[in-house]
Amino acid sequence: MIEAAPDSNGSTTLVIFGASGDLTRRKLVPALASLHSKGRLPLDLQILGVARSDMDDEQFRAILAEWAALSSRIHYLHGDVTSLQDLEAVKDKLASIEGNGGSHNRLYYLSLAPSLYRSAMSGLGESRMSEDFDGWRRLVVEKPFGTDLTSARELNDVAHSVFREDQVFRIDHYLGKETVQNLLVFRFANAIFEPLWNRNYIDHVQITVSETLKIDERGDYYDQTGVLRDMFQNHLLQLLTLVAMEPPHAFEAEALRNEKVKVLNAIRRIRPDDVGRHAIPGQYRTYRDESGVSPESDTATYAAVRLHVDNWRWQGVPFYLRSGKALRNKSTEIIIQFRSPPHMLFPLADDEDIPANTLAIFVQPDEGFHLEFQTKTPEAELQMRTAELEFHYHEAFSGQAIPDAYERLLLDALNGDASLFTRSDEIEQAWSIVDPIIEGFSLPTAPRPYYYSEGSWGPVEADRFMLTDGRAWL
Ligand code: NDP
Repeated sequence: MIEAAPDSNGSTTLVIFGASGDLTRRKLVPALASLHSKGRLPLDLQILGVARSDMDDEQFRAILAEWAALSSRIHYLHGDVTSLQDLEAVKDKLASIEGNGGSHNRLYYLSLAPSLYRSAMSGLGESRMSEDFDGWRRLVVEKPFGTDLTSARELNDVAHSVFREDQVFRIDHYLGKETVQNLLVFRFANAIFEPLWNRNYIDHVQITVSETLKIDERGDYYDQTGVLRDMFQNHLLQLLTLVAMEPPHAFEAEALRNEKVKVLNAIRRIRPDDVGRHAIPGQYRTYRDESGVSPESDTATYAAVRLHVDNWRWQGVPFYLRSGKALRNKSTEIIIQFRSPPHMLFPLADDEDIPANTLAIFVQPDEGFHLEFQTKTPEAELQMRTAELEFHYHEAFSGQAIPDAYERLLLDALNGDASLFTRSDEIEQAWSIVDPIIEGFSLPTAPRPYYYSEGSWGPVEADRFMLTDGRAWL
């Protein structure tokens, strides 16, 4: 249950930089309106939107009808986050919103293009808006945080020159999803799965994040980014860490994040000159025709990668990660494939392998779990059939809508709970895993991206890649 942030004696202001943008309109405003309707926003919360567009309070309030219920608490100021003069005006506006007396807490949300993070953070420092003598100051930074290890380190350095690490909340909205959190409950609040959760019983793990969408109008951005930066460095590695981590001693930010960082540390780095053995790049057939994309582009819109976690629990268990654009389905799934029984008593058809149990964890769209096991076919003599135990959120909690990830993340940031946000060392470790693969893909000796048809499951080479390991995508 998401709880309302405690009331404070004074005011709490959420300052959204980039208040006229897409993320604000599509995610932040609906999340705030929904939290308000559930009575979960701090009672003293004020919201100040900042962007260069010339809007007034009324126009900002008109973004969404449901948002109107909050209207007396919504303010807008046009300003450029790179201008110290404008930040001084934001400071004055905040002072007028906050009034006198009590503590004045502020959550700064950078819903800005990543190229502006650095100047926004420095500006908050130079204008002394980060100082927390009269209330807490926190900073939410959207993804992507850097484009490689070097730039992520530089951004972390700028952030740390202005804020303490415990004030910085780096978003990976996957962590705000209910099923992702439920993965931890599933693993650590049940006694029956954890004893099996290791190399003795698990053959391998598959993590798939597939998208049906192409790159839309984001050609310029995407061609510089590619699937490894866009999806692997953040979402896929986050999912992997939650599957592979040791139980933290408490459900608390530092304990959780320490365990996640240990997993990232333990992931065997792929050498750039060896990338062809461990990763398959793909590109959907019409990608080079998209506007903003170079006609000779070798940017991967798909990748399949085999990773190993070199520790006691996971030695010898491959983690297969894949993600791509223009694929058949939009879905996010984690499949735990258990080992086959060591000896088969029951007859198998000629083309049948000894069956193995699988646990499928669906993160989206239909959030839930499936556990596959073998049953005897009625009346037939010792014939087996695969059956499933299923749990679906929408059936089990019917009538209870699953909150959008941003509701949870906004509330956690307001409450100061960083458990579902990414720490600086976590981000850097993740880049250090993905950077050599990106570098490897760009070497002349590396395979060029294999073409795949839109609406397929990616290049056939990704299937062959699994076959050479004696496995298949599930
Ligand atoms: P947009 O380009 O739609 O919005 C950017 C916002 O920044 C606009 O409000 C723009 O308004 C404002 N802005 C630009 N320059 C300045 C400036 N110098 N000073 C103040 N405001 C400025 O981007 P998105 O909303 O799509 O993305 C924002 C962030 O969220 C990005 O980091 C993105 O990667 C991330 N993100 C977005 C998602 C989405 O679904 N949109 C999903 C996940 C992450 P104006 O021109 O009026 O100043």
